[in-house]
Amino acid sequence: MPIDATQPYDPDNIFAKILRGEIPNDTVFEDEHVLAFRDINPQAPVHVLVIPKGEYVSWDDFAAKAPDVEIAHFVRKVGEIARDLDLVEPGYRLLANIGGHGHQEVPHLHVHLFGGKPLGPMLA
Ligand code: 5GP
Repeated sequence: MPIDATQPYDPDNIFAKILRGEIPNDTVFEDEHVLAFRDINPQAPVHVLVIPKGEYVSWDDFAAKAPDVEIAHFVRKVGEIARDLDLVEPGYRLLANIGGHGHQEVPHLHVHLFGGKPLGPMLA
């Protein structure tokens, strides 16, 4: 079910549990501010979720609340993770679902990183 992305952060959401180590994940990258892990239901040969560790529900929440240095770090790490997964030359897709119309299901900001095959045109 899509969520209302204007709701307060829910500390019991599934990605918060992953960040606390209560649910296992297949980690691709981790540092102080960022975790990247493989999606449990991959939609492409490479399907990684990249999340800031801070408590942000949506992109606009992140933009409003995160320090500039954290935002810059997140953007840089998404690019580095794509490079480290050898996706730069063949190409890849980034996607963030936000709120009801965006069909966001997990209320912790995440960027989907897809690759490993030609993905075709983006469908709205
Ligand atoms: P959304 O629609 O919120 O952008 O997508 C949420 C994504 O999280 C989905 O692609 C779903 O497969 C993934 N997901 C949901 N629960 C888990 C989980 O427990 N572990 C992992 N690795 N991915 C999950």
